[in-house]
This record gives sequence, structure tokens and C-alpha cells, in this order.
Amino acid sequence: MKNENLNQLRNRIDEINLQLLQLLNERTELVEAVGREKDKQGLKKYDPIREQQIIEQLKEKNQGPMSDEMMVHIFKEIFKVSVKLQEEKSHKKGLLVSRKNKSEDTVIEVNGDSIGEGEATFVFGPCSVESQEQMERVAANLAAKGLKYIRGGAFKPRTSPYDFQGLGIEGLKIMSEVAKKYDLRVISEIMDASDLEAALPYLDVVQIGARNMQNFSLLKAVGHINKPVLLKRGLSATIEEFVNAAEYITMHGNPNVMLCERGIRTYEKATRNTLDISAVPILKRETHLPVFVDITHSTGRKDILLPIAKAALAVGADGIMAEVHPNPTVALSDANQQMSLEEFDVFFKNLLS
Ligand code: PEP
Ligand code: MN
Repeated sequence: MKNENLNQLRNRIDEINLQLLQLLNERTELVEAVGREKDKQGLKKYDPIREQQIIEQLKEKNQGPMSDEMMVHIFKEIFKVSVKLQEEKSHKKGLLVSRKNKSEDTVIEVNGDSIGEGEATFVFGPCSVESQEQMERVAANLAAKGLKYIRGGAFKPRTSPYDFQGLGIEGLKIMSEVAKKYDLRVISEIMDASDLEAALPYLDVVQIGARNMQNFSLLKAVGHINKPVLLKRGLSATIEEFVNAAEYITMHGNPNVMLCERGIRTYEKATRNTLDISAVPILKRETHLPVFVDITHSTGRKDILLPIAKAALAVGADGIMAEVHPNPTVALSDANQQMSLEEFDVFFKNLLS
């Protein structure tokens, strides 16, 4: 008789469990729909104010015998798993730049040339644009090698405000004119969003330098242009911060972003920066964007450029950037680290062999 009573009670509990299960599943459907809406509106998944309001409401309606404490405990657990579910669903989608979101490599078209399609891209040129004659000499050398890109800074991020700051738009005009003559594509850094409009006609690729990797208004501004962007890793940026900086550009509408590992600051003094070679395969794995390695600013020394360039290509870099100057000893910036044209000839021959 006693057992029959227990069984009856248990049967009733089983029925209620099934009802709870059905209700919890209905609730989960709504939780997912709310998660999608929060994603659309860019809202956080965890909303403590809303959670507190629900708890107050439930306390008011609680007629027992469950204590408020027990009821709050159960509902807090339900809220916790609901928020976790919303977060997981939204991370599964991932960042726009992530492989999870798009599995194929992004191939970037720059005036009929493709970057990131398998063949390595080479970007060489002086640290700064200094004169027509200087750019002519570099461009002629690049064109003779069949190269397609030239770099040169016109807006220079210099540590000292007393150092050469670059020729600005005049420098870009020089580089663009020379590049046209030798059929080269132009890459140059823009430091200020207000220079973009005037600079764009002279550029094929806009470079965002290491010091501006987290200049969010500049990232948003280049997100609105229709030319590719080469984004360099910040001096002390983690890979996650670097990837998020790229996301700023893509989420504002410009999918043509290339990443450039250029060394990070560590305690090591043997090189100007420490080249984080593992960043290359990690970025290739985690994003679908082309990845470059700047062998000049990462090392700051000319004697190891060849093995570093080979290492970069061996770990999957889509391109290499290096500085070349017709007369490095009198260069107006980075005089110690730029290859002369003669050194460049040897470097390039050995890189290809
Ligand atoms: C450059 O490429 O000219 C430059 C200044 O490099 P970074 O921003 O990586 O220091
Ligand atoms: Mn430089």
C-alpha cells in the first residue's frame, strides 16, 4: 500500500517533468530567437538588468511552497545556460574575417593582379618617398625584375617630431607618376582619415601602419573605400587584437584586407622587433585573408633578410615586403635597414633560386 502511494506520486512527477521539458524547449526556441535579434542589434547576450526584473516579477508571483531562494536559484541556472547558448550560437558564426565564416582564401585583385592565389607577391621600395630621381631608380630596378608593386611612405609615422615627416600628397604624386611609367602598383601608408580622399587617386593599396592598427576611426574610414588595405600588426598587438582590427575594416564594408606581420616588441635587442613567425600560419588558419611578412621592419638588419624571407614563404606567407633604397646611407628614414639596389639584386636572385 505504501509503495503504491510512492509510485503514484512518482508517476505524477514524471508527468510534470515531461511538461517542464516541453516548456523548457519552447523557452529555448525563444532564447535562440532573442539571441539572433541581439546579434542584429549588436547587443550583449548577458543583460543583468533584465535578469533582475524577471526575478522580481517571479518573486511577486511565487505562491510557494517553493521558497523564493530556491525559485531564484533554479531560474538563475536557466538564465545562465540560456546566455551560454546564445553566446555559443553567435561565436559559431564567427568574425567576418574568420575561416569559420568563410572557408575559401580571399583573393585580392589589384589592377589585374591577384594577391593570395598561391604565387607570392613582392612589395619593395624605399622607406620614404624622397624625390623623383630616387623613385625612378627603384622603379626601374623593380620593373627589370618583372615585379608589380612599389612601396614608399609619404606620410611617415616618425618617433621624433623633428625627423623627416614625409612629402605628403606631393610624395604620392611622384610615386604614382613613376609607377605608371614602369607599370607598377602603388602601396603607401595613410595615417589620417582626412588625407584619404586626396590620397586615393594615387594609391592602389592603402597601408595602415603598425602605430595605427588600433586607430579605430581610421579603420572605419578605410572600411568605406573601394581599394584594398594592407593592415600591419601593431607594435604590441596580440594576434586576437590584430584580427579584430581587420574585422573593423571588413565589417564597415571593405572585404579586401591583407594582414602584415611586421614584428612585435619584446625584450630582445638583436633585432629591431621580434618577428612572430608563428603568427603567419595562425593567421592563415584563423582568417581567410592574405598574410604578408615585412622582413625589414621586423628584423631591422640587412644580414638576415634572405633566411627570414625564405622562412616567411615556407610557413605560408602570401607576400613579402622589404625596403630598398638607391642610396641607403643618406636615406631620410630607416637608413640602417634598407637594402641598396646592389644588395637587393643579390637578395632577390637568391630568394628565387
Ligand atoms: C612602413 O612600412 O613604412 C612602416 C612605417 O612600418 P610599420 O608601420 O610596420 O612600422
Ligand atoms: Mn621604414
